[in-house]
Amino acid sequence: MSAKLIDGNWLANQLKEKLKKDVDDLKAATGRVPTLVNLMIGDDGGSCAYAQAQKKAAEFIGVDYQWIHLPYNISQEDFMDYVNKLNHDPKINGILIHRPVPEAIDYRLALSAIDIHKDIEGINAVNIGRMLLGETTIIPCTPAAVMALIKSTGLTVRGKDVVIVGHSDIVGKPLALLLLRELATVTICHIATSEAGRLKEHVAQADILIVAVGQADLIKGDWIKEGACVIDVGINKAGSKIVGDVEFEEAKKRASYIAPVPGGVGPMTVMLLMKNGIEVFKLQTRKE
Ligand code: NDP
Repeated sequence: MSAKLIDGNWLANQLKEKLKKDVDDLKAATGRVPTLVNLMIGDDGGSCAYAQAQKKAAEFIGVDYQWIHLPYNISQEDFMDYVNKLNHDPKINGILIHRPVPEAIDYRLALSAIDIHKDIEGINAVNIGRMLLGETTIIPCTPAAVMALIKSTGLTVRGKDVVIVGHSDIVGKPLALLLLRELATVTICHIATSEAGRLKEHVAQADILIVAVGQADLIKGDWIKEGACVIDVGINKAGSKIVGDVEFEEAKKRASYIAPVPGGVGPMTVMLLMKNGIEVFKLQTRKE
């Protein structure tokens, strides 16, 4: 068997056209376009591929997207004050905080300062809580991208054994909630699963396997169940190449579908961030 590739670039391009039309329509109706800011502490954030991709997508779609550079040595208090100023600025619709942040900044605390109505990554504690209860349309971008990739195959997750490797607050945990909402049987693996020597046996059970760890080749191709759908979220540098967390060539021989790195989850994550930016703008202008 050779797996079909899930083409994240193609899916993102389809969505990009739709979002551009949405923004054109909003502009015609309100005279405005969504304004989003990416807060970067220090000067190097702009060199990050994720931030570059956001900028490029925003330019195409017609969203006003800005990088704001704050001093590397900014205190937590000053950072929170700055976020609060943006919260009260009616011209700013959406805010995100570029990662990583300096060690002196508590990222969770910083996130909690963002007005929940401007949290375009959907990872503020209140928005995660609302997602748990199915009460928000602002879904964290990477988990939403994973769901979109799975759906593009035509597979349904209901009743499937889905294994997620990695339980971070921004990927693994919210993704588990989205899958649970659609009645998948979800197993979440993490460092202790590996320490217990049980990662391979869990991976081997997965009808749908999602890996978000950040370790090249952590998942061996021959662990994968024949016919599984594999979504690799990991981004790792291997010399001059970018690779995921799954041994791609071997996995491809066993899986039915596989999302490659690069060109899988990444492009959809960017586009779903833009979608969230448009959604918060709609919600805010509806209230005015
Ligand atoms: P984190 O570092 O926050 O989380 C990594 C997770 O992997 C943790 O839950 C950790 O568990 C788990 N882990 C670490 N080692 C092992 C192991 N040996 N076996 C099993 N689990 C392990 O990373 P993120 O969630 O932010 O990102 C994960 C990867 O996805 C990264 O490569 C990142 O670059 C990429 N990414 C890609 C995106 C995209 O759009 N394509 C977006 C976001 C992330 P524990 O905490 O218990 O140690």
